[in-house]
Amino acid sequence: MQKTEKKESKERRPVGMKLKMFSYMAAFTAIVIIILWVFQIILLDDIYNGTVKTETKAIASAITLAADLGDEEFRTRVYNMAANNASCVSVYEIKDGFGREIVTAHSQNLCVIHSHMLGESFLANIYANAKNSKIYIDDTAAAGNETGSILCAKVGQRDGKDLLVIVNTTLASVDAAVNTLHIQFGFITVILLMVAAVMAYIISARVTRPVADMNNEAKKLARGNYDVDFRGGEFLETAELSKTLNFAAEELSKLDTMQKELISNISHDLRTPLTMISGYSEVMRDIPGEMTAENMQIIIDETKRLSTLVSDMLDLSRLSGGSRKLNLTVFSLTECIRSTIDRYSHLCEKDGYSVTFDTDGDITVEADEILILQVIYNLISNAINYTGEDKRIHVEARIFDGICRISVSDTGMGIPEDKLPFIWDRYYRTGDYHKRAVTGTGLGLSIVKNALILHGSPFGVSSTVGKGSTFWFELPVFNSDID
Ligand code: ADP
Repeated sequence: MQKTEKKESKERRPVGMKLKMFSYMAAFTAIVIIILWVFQIILLDDIYNGTVKTETKAIASAITLAADLGDEEFRTRVYNMAANNASCVSVYEIKDGFGREIVTAHSQNLCVIHSHMLGESFLANIYANAKNSKIYIDDTAAAGNETGSILCAKVGQRDGKDLLVIVNTTLASVDAAVNTLHIQFGFITVILLMVAAVMAYIISARVTRPVADMNNEAKKLARGNYDVDFRGGEFLETAELSKTLNFAAEELSKLDTMQKELISNISHDLRTPLTMISGYSEVMRDIPGEMTAENMQIIIDETKRLSTLVSDMLDLSRLSGGSRKLNLTVFSLTECIRSTIDRYSHLCEKDGYSVTFDTDGDITVEADEILILQVIYNLISNAINYTGEDKRIHVEARIFDGICRISVSDTGMGIPEDKLPFIWDRYYRTGDYHKRAVTGTGLGLSIVKNALILHGSPFGVSSTVGKGSTFWFELPVFNSDID
């Protein structure tokens, strides 16, 4: 028997921001409390002992250093130091191994110095220890008190004799302090947790509100509603995200409008020649004597127009969709321009158009010949469409610094400056003065732009209203007979 095992997806369910934020804050609070607990309660005894030891040593050293003072002043210094630090101090002058007390200060009960009334042997022992080390310290000293004390001794010099300074500080009990801290910590923990909860709520509300708002707007956008407004709140990241989303929404809306326009333009452009073809065909079928060569020609022309439109649309979608790759070959640009002009020769003869061409010799370029031919064809075709009453078009190929600039000029009514940036968009038309001497699909300049962008070639237009326009583009010269 075969068992089919169901693989359960172990995707973790996302946790709400507020809960997550609170758990982080609570963890932070716990860490702070643990650190405080360790330092304030567990290490309190050691830290306190260490501090008292340091202070007691400091008094012993300070008194040793003050040994040069006069008797009275020295005594006062000893009393003050003992009183200020709640320590007991005794200073002995050592002569012939015998210690004579020269000053003693008594600032606390149960001190080792005064309770034991240091015996000679004890004193000799301390003196020997202090003499051997820089400073003698005994932290086990106790004089009937449970907490013990710190005894510190240091040997100094006074009038050529050794001076033994003994300082004793009784340690206080830290139990009371620890108990107080316990209670305090209870309160602190509760207060901190409450603060953490409030902070987590405030922070997460501030962070989540814009995110939740943006999420709602994004859902609207996903449903195709482009009238959305993303607000990012006060944080840099969410503000940037909202900007990006607003931009994306704007672009999507533009794209949607363009798509609708495109469909309506395409259907309009396809319908016009189709109506003509079917209309003329019916007339030729039904009305005797209408089977004329002119009517046939109209059907042929409209069919050509349809096929141009379809191939233009295909070209443009390949070019702008990125599926068209450059096929670079070396070819004569001059020949390419001449052959394009020749394609209009019958139009020139029939309708009186004159297309002139000036070139700096025979210019060879390395480019995609089919695309460049299309560019030239579209520019000349537009020039013929829009040129003025004199029906003149001038094409030039000039070389500057190894670059060939091809320009196509007409004497038409030109393009207003505010319309110039848009003429390269597909289906953009500046007005209704389309003469249609040759077929125009409204895609020509868009194809030109995409083909030249693919080549990385600079291009542009200069136009004066009422005088005419000059469309140009540049290609690096591969070879020319005037180089
Ligand atoms: P169309 O088929 O309409 O000519 P194009 O993409 O070739 O489409 O051109 C876009 C628009 O740019 C034209 O509709 C026209 O308004 C303007 N245009 C193009 N070439 C010229 C020109 N030589 N003179 C004046 N306007 C021009």
